[in-house]
Amino acid sequence: MVSRVIPVEPFDLVIFGGTGDLARRKILPALFRRFCAGQMRGDERVIGAARAEMSTKDYRAFARAAITEFDDNDACAAEHLDGFLRQLSYVALDARSDAGWAELGAALRKGRIRAFYFSVGPGLFGDLAERLYQWKLADAQSRIVVEKPFGRDLDSARALNATLAQHFDEAQIYRIDHYLGKETVQNLMAIRFGNTLFEPLWNSQYVDHIQITVAESVGVGTRGEYYDRSGAMRDMMQNHMMQLLCLTAMEPPAKFDPAAVRDEKLKVIRALDPMTPENIVRGQYEGADGRPAYRDQVEAPDSRTETFVALKARVGNWRWAGTPFYMRTGKRLKARASEIAVVFKDAPHSIFGADAGHHRNILTIRLQPNEGIELGVTIKEPGPGGMRLIDVPLDMSFAEALGPDSDDFPDAYERLIMDVIRGDQTLFMRGDEVEAAWEWTDPIIESWQEAGDDPLLYATGSSGPDDALALIHRDGRRWREIRP
Ligand code: NAD
Repeated sequence: MVSRVIPVEPFDLVIFGGTGDLARRKILPALFRRFCAGQMRGDERVIGAARAEMSTKDYRAFARAAITEFDDNDACAAEHLDGFLRQLSYVALDARSDAGWAELGAALRKGRIRAFYFSVGPGLFGDLAERLYQWKLADAQSRIVVEKPFGRDLDSARALNATLAQHFDEAQIYRIDHYLGKETVQNLMAIRFGNTLFEPLWNSQYVDHIQITVAESVGVGTRGEYYDRSGAMRDMMQNHMMQLLCLTAMEPPAKFDPAAVRDEKLKVIRALDPMTPENIVRGQYEGADGRPAYRDQVEAPDSRTETFVALKARVGNWRWAGTPFYMRTGKRLKARASEIAVVFKDAPHSIFGADAGHHRNILTIRLQPNEGIELGVTIKEPGPGGMRLIDVPLDMSFAEALGPDSDDFPDAYERLIMDVIRGDQTLFMRGDEVEAAWEWTDPIIESWQEAGDDPLLYATGSSGPDDALALIHRDGRRWREIRP
């Protein structure tokens, strides 16, 4: 199945922080793949801008190495690489001084869409916005892309929004959350709003509960210094998990457009009941088999930063009254596996008697690995011997359903960067959404700080602390197994 690729309007894209880790691992390979797919016309300019002194020739060599290392798509032929690299140039520039800004201005062309990717630490967002304004490099059509973390609490997020708003309209600001760029996450909306089958059942009358899991098997690695100032609540729950919750719980927007979708997401966050201590568990991983404990990977030997959070959230509105959302995320867990599972209620009356067992439908949206959607249905166990029931998956694995090209889905960054050029903000977070998410998250983090106690330790390779199991067991439910 070959999808039709429509080239985007000609653009100039500046990657501030163009020599950084994110540019190397994600942004440059994503652009290259879109180039191969025919989504660029061939005369775009991609300008790396960072502090290091470097020639354009060296930057192209840097990009070549990055793409060779991180682009694992064979369909993207090496023969395109030289053509792509010819569009790249480099400007050495300092966000905190005037050095390099005149050169950047000279590298940009008139009459083109200009996008400025802020792939630098958030401490520089304000400087970049200010200098873009001072040097008159941004016009009303220009866009800026900002990376996470967007603030570390409500106050800092508000301050950041206010800083950006001094020079840019909300319609020009693209706050990236790469989870929203994932094919399956968008498919969640297609499944819900493109079928008549699911939406009538998508409420507390038919849904027993929902589980959202984002599990990683790795620890913090070398990112300990950054992570220790953040923790799972800020790093995962406030942004990615919250976005997944919103898309699962929101009301049908009137249109698939930025304002309508983001209005509905915002209503979900505002409808969340405040969290209470008995409904949240935080943990920190221990070491095992030569793998260090979290506390041995960060500077503070008594760090209280959580590497795991499990919680039971309630969306206080008519649709979800009585249906809990169990959410958990953590590092060094059993496997790398992320999914949203919608667990439907039992059939109201079993005509098959007690021997038939206990069965329910579960719709699982797998984000990673093996993106796909699975619907568990109950059928009769084949063979003689009475009416025994079993659960089997109706597996809508994309690879099978959509043909051989389906494992070649654009990476989230590819989709999102092209959306920036197209001017489509649907899959980006609006300022008020981010603030509302912090408003809900802040009291949780504050209560931990006030309590001053340690997170619960959990074993590397486990499913998290035992208390996280108890959080759901006490409601007569169980977590789905974390498996790859
Ligand atoms: P990094 O430290 O690897 O790179 C930072 C870049 O900023 C470098 O190119 C550096 O030259 C440039 N820079 C620093 N100070 C500058 C200045 N004064 N003027 C101009 N340029 C300057 O960082 P990174 O990992 O690439 O992350 C960039 C942003 O993306 C951060 O906000 C980070 O939180 C976010 N992010 C990164 C990842 C990731 O996987 N690396 C994932 C999600 C979000």
